Amino acid sequence: EEMKKSGLRGRGGAGFPTGVTWESASKNPAVNGKKFIVCNADEGDPGAFMDRSLLEGDPNSVLEAMAIAGYAVGASQGYIYIRAEYPLAIDRLKIAIAQAEEAGVLGDNILGTGFNFKIELKYGAGAFVCGEGTALIRSMEGKAGRPRMKPPFMKQSGLFARPTCMNNVESLSIVPHLLRDSAKTYMKYGVGESLGTKLVSVGGNVKKPGVYEIPFGTTIREIIYDLAGGIQGDRKIRLIQFGGASGKIADDSILDVPYTYEDFKEHDLIIGSGSILVIDERTSVIDFLRYTQDFFLHESCGQCTPCREGNRHIKMFLDKIKAQTHTQEDLETMQTFAKVMPMSSLCGLGETAQNALKSAMKIFPDTFKIKN
Ligand code: SF4
Repeated sequence: EEMKKSGLRGRGGAGFPTGVTWESASKNPAVNGKKFIVCNADEGDPGAFMDRSLLEGDPNSVLEAMAIAGYAVGASQGYIYIRAEYPLAIDRLKIAIAQAEEAGVLGDNILGTGFNFKIELKYGAGAFVCGEGTALIRSMEGKAGRPRMKPPFMKQSGLFARPTCMNNVESLSIVPHLLRDSAKTYMKYGVGESLGTKLVSVGGNVKKPGVYEIPFGTTIREIIYDLAGGIQGDRKIRLIQFGGASGKIADDSILDVPYTYEDFKEHDLIIGSGSILVIDERTSVIDFLRYTQDFFLHESCGQCTPCREGNRHIKMFLDKIKAQTHTQEDLETMQTFAKVMPMSSLCGLGETAQNALKSAMKIFPDTFKIKN
């Protein structure tokens, strides 16, 4: 109830209320006595490093939250699926788990309550798509990390066909603080329906790249100029991408927009994981898009045709635009791909891979002009 009251929205990207996720997980009966809590620490978005920073700096809050989640939903086993490329975070998690077991706050009969909860680490091999819930589960089961159709939903049939409650690192890290200080205290931060604080990782051409914790409602200008120190060499901003490679882009006209789910929606932007990538005037829009598209071309699992072929073709058209050899028909075909992919791809990767391109076509139309 306290979690629901807090209005905490999952920080992994979808923004779904964490209390509601827990409630539905608690209602699904265990299968053969088993139900799982999974912490999704597969932070694969280029430019996102909030989870790494959190796990390196304060792994204990995540472990505590997983135990609380286990208690709330009736699970006695938790897993943290973490990128193998995060060795320091892995080392510190191992130490924190051992210390928690030693202190009797993880393991059997926690603090004499009769509640058992254990946590194990599972390592991801570096595929971006494994951050998608069903692909992550398959990877944990030892299968190829590829998304599957839903239903069945994870809350009914997740890891090893048992009900599974999956949360993101940052969402979990907030839980102990939120329960200790009460939901009311937590709700003092933020505005509207965007309550509490958010970790943002600011990267790219800023003077002080890093992870910053902001109350929702802080403006983008405050984040980029006051916290991250402004643009290197005091250059102009070419573009800003929010929420990772699959996020939308904007120019500097949005600097005074408050960082909230509602304001971002109004400006056709997505908060996503919380990464903010700032690109200065030295990089052209088309080079940025080609780089982004290369990433998706590489990371598409290839399972469905619209994503596999769409990413390849969009990259091909972007290369033609760069070389100024594109035609009107190329532009139209590229737009058709960008329209069809979200409607026909199986997972979020194929659905969002063209977000940057679509916003660039609106904001920077000159980039795509045919010059002869
Ligand atoms: Fe794989 Fe792309 Fe299909 Fe997702 S949309 S399942 S990444 S091919």
